[in-house]
Amino acid sequence: MLATPSEKEYFRKSYQQVNGAENHPKILTGETRNNIINTMPYATLSRQAFSRAKFESLLKRRFFYTEAFEIYRTAPSYKGDHRGLYDYGPPGCALLANIVNEWRRHFVIEENMMELDCTSITPEAVLRTSGHVEKFADWMCRDPVKGEFLRADHLVETVLGARLTNNKTALESGGAKDKRLDEATVQQYEEILAKIDNYDGPELGKLIKEHDIRNPNGNGKVEEPSAFNLMFKSTIGPSAAAPVFLRPETAQGQFLNFRKLLDYSQGSLPFASACVGKAYRNEISPRSGLLRVREFLLAEIEHFVDPESNKEHERFHEVEDVELPFLSKETQLSGKTTILKDSIGNAVREKLVDNETLGYFLVRIYLFLIKIGADPQKIRFRQHLNNEMAHYACDCWDAELLTSYGWIECVGCADRSAYDLTVHSKETGTALTVKQPLKEPIKIVEWEASLEKRLIGPRFKKDARKIEAAIYDLDQPALAELATQLNSKGTASISLKEPLSDGRNKVDIPSDVCTVKQVTRVETMREYTPNVIEPAFGIGRILYCVLEHVYWYREQDEAREVLSLPIFTAATKVLLVPLSSNASFKPVIKSLARQLRALGIANNEDTSSVSIGKRYARNDELGTPFAITVDFDTVKDGSITLRERDSTAQVRASHNDIIEAVKNLVANSESWQQVFQRLPEFTAQPQT
Ligand code: AMP
Repeated sequence: MLATPSEKEYFRKSYQQVNGAENHPKILTGETRNNIINTMPYATLSRQAFSRAKFESLLKRRFFYTEAFEIYRTAPSYKGDHRGLYDYGPPGCALLANIVNEWRRHFVIEENMMELDCTSITPEAVLRTSGHVEKFADWMCRDPVKGEFLRADHLVETVLGARLTNNKTALESGGAKDKRLDEATVQQYEEILAKIDNYDGPELGKLIKEHDIRNPNGNGKVEEPSAFNLMFKSTIGPSAAAPVFLRPETAQGQFLNFRKLLDYSQGSLPFASACVGKAYRNEISPRSGLLRVREFLLAEIEHFVDPESNKEHERFHEVEDVELPFLSKETQLSGKTTILKDSIGNAVREKLVDNETLGYFLVRIYLFLIKIGADPQKIRFRQHLNNEMAHYACDCWDAELLTSYGWIECVGCADRSAYDLTVHSKETGTALTVKQPLKEPIKIVEWEASLEKRLIGPRFKKDARKIEAAIYDLDQPALAELATQLNSKGTASISLKEPLSDGRNKVDIPSDVCTVKQVTRVETMREYTPNVIEPAFGIGRILYCVLEHVYWYREQDEAREVLSLPIFTAATKVLLVPLSSNASFKPVIKSLARQLRALGIANNEDTSSVSIGKRYARNDELGTPFAITVDFDTVKDGSITLRERDSTAQVRASHNDIIEAVKNLVANSESWQQVFQRLPEFTAQPQT
């Protein structure tokens, strides 16, 4: 299958367009530039109509993923809610692994992060301390007639969204006037939808009543929203006495290992840890395929930073000119969704993005998403509204990808401040802090109490220890007050947390037992709790959105669908195709497969008897970027052809030259464009 001359010209131009995209000057250098050249010309995609049914049928046909427990659905013993549970098939599994590998390369290796693998089963105490037991919940409404549970914000979104769509259709078709919404209502609905994430339960309840929002399934009224905790609960061991949860995020394991991480990094900050693993969330109503599931792969980074460093980042200058598409909190609150493009340097200077470290990660996330195949025109960074922010966060931006389901949050990037380390430290009595030598020692003048041990014991007998503890527990203002009282009256009253043996919770202390004086000490160390910037990547969501972004079909034949996955992410890098079942091709194919395997390049032989065009088309659907074809000329002169998936263009060269080119393409040291210019083009139709 060859590209027509006009098609080839079109692809050449498209490559140049992507290559020369003027608004991303800095990112289009070196490695990233090559990645972009190797990916789909997005211009084609954006002008094609997208059919989700056709696209999802491809994913199903090629076994990217499937609903779990499918064959059990009809079993008499099965009474389950299987929604939100998926199994990945071979290409999906390889794609998932390749995204994670690229994530490791782009973040863990590039930023020298410390990777951990922590358990999913988490004691209740940990998640109670972190606030998840109390606050990790969504608002849900029950339809008492249907017995259905609906997520309150999704219900409002779905019903108001549908009303707006119906109104638009009625306007366009000149339909009945009484079915149309007046302008004020349209504006009101649009404003509600723009800030839907900012409403809490009672506010959603009010909206549901005010706008008579009902369950779209049956039109029944729903009950007031109530909070539903999203964690799966279980118990551990045969006694079932110890309550546990399946982790809803990987972050907690990283916080609990903070001291060991600090030791490992030889006590110096900033540093980052990372963890990839399954997370579990008992979603109220899983929907939209892989986008809202109950078990998913999460890759999280915890970047620990000194709060007094202004959260500056030493590599910020490398990315400060990169332009990002922002949707700010203010824009959303004004009921709009306008995207503002600005360099991250400006965004941080103008305090749109709180600090350099957060800004640095937003850029790194952007580059990662583009690298694995996301369309740069379909990425935006949306700032969280105050109510929407997780209980631990103080500023948060989501990287969202535009799909047929609308804008989907794929990466959350939150500034968790010192919240987690502080609460775990308080609960466990373990110092989760950093000690740092001060440049200049500082003199500290402070009040200090001393007790006359010889007198306090005989005088207060068995209450002496409680009184001692209460005095040593006093803070500086309380000690200053104690000093004033002792000096002026010769005695002072002290409150006790634990009552004395006679039940009193106050005691008078005379000045012969206790003295309070100002002392001067020299401090050489500073002790502080680090702040945390956390980028969290939902790998399944990213995978689905990227697949939508790289999906297209050949203009001359809509049935010929293609997934233009970048070479990094494609499950198989090279397809090996003998022209026919002729026995002379077999040893060449076997030897090519062996050579590619030795180079660690994933390849697949397609020796089926269908036409070569069908075999190419099948692998275009799997996103395989290159195909090597062996024909009768190969047997004669050792030459083979290399076909590129997107352009369908081919080059022909010696066995060794083609293997060398594939090696370079996979290693990203050469682009297809360069290979195509360097090696002779092959334009003849293969003879079968
Ligand atoms: P969060 O901790 O809520 O910010 O989630 C981090 C990331 O996990 C999100 O950006 C999503 O990519 C992903 N995620 C969260 N919930 C789900 C879900 N129910 N199904 C699939 N991915 C999810």
